[in-house]
Amino acid sequence: MTLQVYINGRLVPKEQAAVSVFDHGFLYGDGVFEGMRSYSGRVFRLQAHLDRLWESARAIWLEIPLSQEEMTQAVYQTLQANDISDGYIRLVVTRGAGTLGLDPNKCSDPQVIIIADHIELYPAEFYEKGLHIITASTIRNHPAALSPRIKSLNYLNNILAKIEGLQAGCVEALMLNHKGEVAECTGDNIFLVRRGELYTPPNDAGILEGVTRAAVIELARGMNLPVHEVPLTRHDVYVAQECFLTGTAAEVIPVVRVDGRAIGSGKPGPVTQELRRRFERLVREQPDG
Ligand code: PMP
Repeated sequence: MTLQVYINGRLVPKEQAAVSVFDHGFLYGDGVFEGMRSYSGRVFRLQAHLDRLWESARAIWLEIPLSQEEMTQAVYQTLQANDISDGYIRLVVTRGAGTLGLDPNKCSDPQVIIIADHIELYPAEFYEKGLHIITASTIRNHPAALSPRIKSLNYLNNILAKIEGLQAGCVEALMLNHKGEVAECTGDNIFLVRRGELYTPPNDAGILEGVTRAAVIELARGMNLPVHEVPLTRHDVYVAQECFLTGTAAEVIPVVRVDGRAIGSGKPGPVTQELRRRFERLVREQPDG
């Protein structure tokens, strides 16, 4: 069965799902997106993803030509058309086709695209043994230049760091912010466990406000595990007992080596494993819809 892609209110075979070469999403990365997952036919934290998409759009003066209710319907319609109950959903809203100049006012037709596909998961071994990551020399975008809280179509900052990671044989790389503090990885947020308490960089450290991050913080609080959203340095990472990453695709994934140094015991730790178990339960049950 050919994948059906939603584009501006229509479902079309993926070969026919195309945008103009004059679309500023293509020419300039002028647009926003979301990555979500559905579990047993229900999108995990759909409302949080829609809120983030709408906030990203607002931050770049882009009006999404659909209501959140219409977007919700379109998402489920796309999942059903492709008979996907456990999958990955990409929402994209571009500025639309314009002229070759930067002026977004010359773009009149923002494109709304929804792609629902089967998800490519990390191999089980990564979860059992934990990831090795490095610190990239590419820092996260300076928030005063382009806020990392905007999930924009311009991911070059993260791609450059990802390349550094891949060249070092790692699937993820840690990015520092302009102050030299720990920010996040190229597509995941980062957590540390120290003396039995949880630490993660605050939103103003220049990170994307991860939906998985928020869910994990709630789970930790439900375990009476203190959570500190405070600035962290590489020193904190190196001396941590445990380290893990969170993201829609990866969920909760342990990190056991950073820049060649073993973190804690060098094996996935008990807090990480417990949070992973609880997260798996949460996505299956989805008590909050
Ligand atoms: N940081 C960045 C830069 C990301 O691209 C992502 C993935 N969207 C995350 C963190 C994790 O966010 P979420 O849990 O919402 O997927």
